[in-house]
Amino acid sequence: MSDHVHVRINQGLGVTEDGELVEHSYCRCGTTWTKVYQVEDDASE
Ligand SMILES: [Zn+2]
Repeated sequence: MSDHVHVRINQGLGVTEDGELVEHSYCRCGTTWTKVYQVEDDASE
């Protein structure tokens, strides 16, 4: 097989049980990604 370049197809957004925003995406080859966005307002650091 030749090198495969993943094409990330957005699968939508979700929210974890911790209240974080999660973006799901996948490629036709079956690879999936989960990107978590930190949405907390904790700026104490
Ligand atoms: Zn792929």
